Amino acid sequence: MYASLEELSRDILSCTACPLWQSRTRGVPGEGNPGADLMFVGEGPGAEEDLAGRPFVGAAGQLLDRILEAIDLTRDDVYIANIVKCRPPGNRNPTEHEAGACLLWLRHQVRLIRPRIIVCLGTVAAQNIIDPGARVTRIRGRFIERRGYFLFATYHPAALLRDERLKVDAWKDFRAIRDKLREIGKR
Ligand code: SF4
Repeated sequence: MYASLEELSRDILSCTACPLWQSRTRGVPGEGNPGADLMFVGEGPGAEEDLAGRPFVGAAGQLLDRILEAIDLTRDDVYIANIVKCRPPGNRNPTEHEAGACLLWLRHQVRLIRPRIIVCLGTVAAQNIIDPGARVTRIRGRFIERRGYFLFATYHPAALLRDERLKVDAWKDFRAIRDKLREIGKR
């Protein structure tokens, strides 16, 4: 067991539990409020995140920042992590083996942060956290209560950049997240 996120991040940065460590520039453990009620989980670092060692710093991250702002939140209010902490080459999806090996770190993060709401950004996160057969198009927009956490899925911001039409549903999803935070008395 870990006493702090700093201690946990140190071990993530030296992890060699799956082949992705061989091609990473830097591991990307995650960042944000260590006591956040709301946690976002994406798929894995992209090229910019791999160089920076920080999650969601590219165009998709900037869009996420704007969405958060629209529901009166900032990165300091939330915690942001990914299913895999090292970049899959060419931004491919992580394999089952890679995701399975890395989920141990995410579980430790969740135990330390104890968020009330965990939002899966995209299908890969939803499949690893909510249901192995999930597709974000089908599962998005509703809360699933499990072991004291409210699980929720919505589109990955990168998908919103690729297809503007998804933004209408994404906006509904983020308003639902804001409303849930209010309902549980956290905003
Ligand atoms: Fe370890 Fe995860 Fe990186 Fe694989 S992706 S080497 S399991 S930290």
